[in-house]
Amino acid sequence: MGGCGLFAKNTTLPQPRKKRKMKMFEVQTQSGRKFPVIRRKQGAMETDECPYCGGTHIHGTAPGHRIAHCTNKALELNVDGERLTPFDGYIIVHY
Ligand SMILES: [Zn+2]
Repeated sequence: MGGCGLFAKNTTLPQPRKKRKMKMFEVQTQSGRKFPVIRRKQGAMETDECPYCGGTHIHGTAPGHRIAHCTNKALELNVDGERLTPFDGYIIVHY
């Protein structure tokens, strides 16, 4: 028995892993409230990934604030300390 109980550690990681809240979405303020931003290619009906459920949703062609069409309306999103649900929605921005 070699008695080697040590795990080989990879010391050449490109970046140290930081305990940071992953923020995968942009935030915009509208009417004094903060909302996540969801992006959509101009002219497309389908949005990019929903910040609540990770799916895509179909909305009318105009950008702006919308209720999120998530199947699970109990989802919560922490937006700068405020808890939003799909009923609070998001702001559609075109690119
Ligand atoms: Zn959704």
